[in-house]
Amino acid sequence: MDQIYTNLKKYGKVKINESLAKHTTFKFGGSVKYFILIDKTDKLIKVLQFLREENVEFIILGGGSNVLWGDETFDGVVIKIANQEIKLLENNVLLVDAGCVTVAVARESVKLGLTGFEWGIGIPGTIGGAVHGNAGAMGGDMSTNLLKVEVFRQGEILELNNKECEFVYRDSAFKHNNDVVLRVWLQLQKSTIKSKDLMKKALENIQYRNSTQPQGFASSGCIFKNVSVEKWKKENGEDIPELFVGKLVISAGWMIEQSGAKGDKVGQAQVSEKHGNFIINLGGATFVDVKNLIEEIKEKVYNKFKINLEEEVQEIDL
Ligand SMILES: Cc1cc2nc3c(=O)[nH]c(=O)nc-3n(C[C@H](O)[C@H](O)[C@H](O)COP(=O)(O)OP(=O)(O)OC[C@H]3O[C@@H](n4cnc5c(N)ncnc54)[C@H](O)[C@@H]3O)c2cc1C
Repeated sequence: MDQIYTNLKKYGKVKINESLAKHTTFKFGGSVKYFILIDKTDKLIKVLQFLREENVEFIILGGGSNVLWGDETFDGVVIKIANQEIKLLENNVLLVDAGCVTVAVARESVKLGLTGFEWGIGIPGTIGGAVHGNAGAMGGDMSTNLLKVEVFRQGEILELNNKECEFVYRDSAFKHNNDVVLRVWLQLQKSTIKSKDLMKKALENIQYRNSTQPQGFASSGCIFKNVSVEKWKKENGEDIPELFVGKLVISAGWMIEQSGAKGDKVGQAQVSEKHGNFIINLGGATFVDVKNLIEEIKEKVYNKFKINLEEEVQEIDL
């Protein structure tokens, strides 16, 4: 039995030659030589130390809901982070493991009578993934709740405060470095509304959101970032479209729709007819199909608006 496999087995459940299509919401992707699921923070730290000492390449995966995973085989290790502890601390702070499911954390916060994180009820994936991409919805995002975060950085365990995470819209320092998020402290507030009513309100918002998104197809949520008013002014130069006057961003989905790309197809990947910023997998789509469709959309939007759309989804470079 090979050394890496034997060592990995000490820290979690290991699978050999595992297909990533099983672990991403887009349901495509090549296979990885070693796939390990880790459900305890101490074991996660040990495995990261082991891989660093042995100089083995690895990629972190949370819920796989914001990745475009390449079709090739990855000859390293994929670490699926699944540590799951949630603790209520003093002053309405929740200490949450990076592998906790964002929806579960949001529901738990409401049950505890806390407010501020209800927006998380609609976000697939894990808290670690949400910090990495500064996920958000309904006016909230990770930057509005995060007090501090614990990360593994080149063999050291560090705590970073909110400012040090360098959050901006759908971006953070972690998109540009190799830090692994281990645990997160969320600052919430005591709710003056009963938990039951808070949950009802949050679920109504989510239901509305879901009614605007394609259901029953594999996807990775929104492919592109919305466009800030500053970017619009700089690249397009014309007045803000009437629909978005007074708003901070212009919807990428609206631009895609206006450019005539809705319904476009490459292979088995299609721009959703329901929401222009979603690409759906009709069954059997590949990374290449999606990448080509992304390029086609960008070209159409550029031709119509002179705007360069930027991807929100993370391409995993194998
Ligand atoms: C139907 C649907 C709706 C969605 N709606 C929204 C929405 O409204 N708003 C929004 O912001 N997003 C949305 N998304 C996108 C996605 O759910 C979020 O970006 C989510 O936070 C990603 O978390 P994840 O655990 O799935 O990350 P993954 O997809 O597993 O990973 C994404 C990136 O983060 C890195 N990463 C993951 N965990 C860690 C960690 N612990 N430490 C360091 N790096 C890590 C990965 O290496 C990868 O680069 C949606 C997705 C779907 C499928």
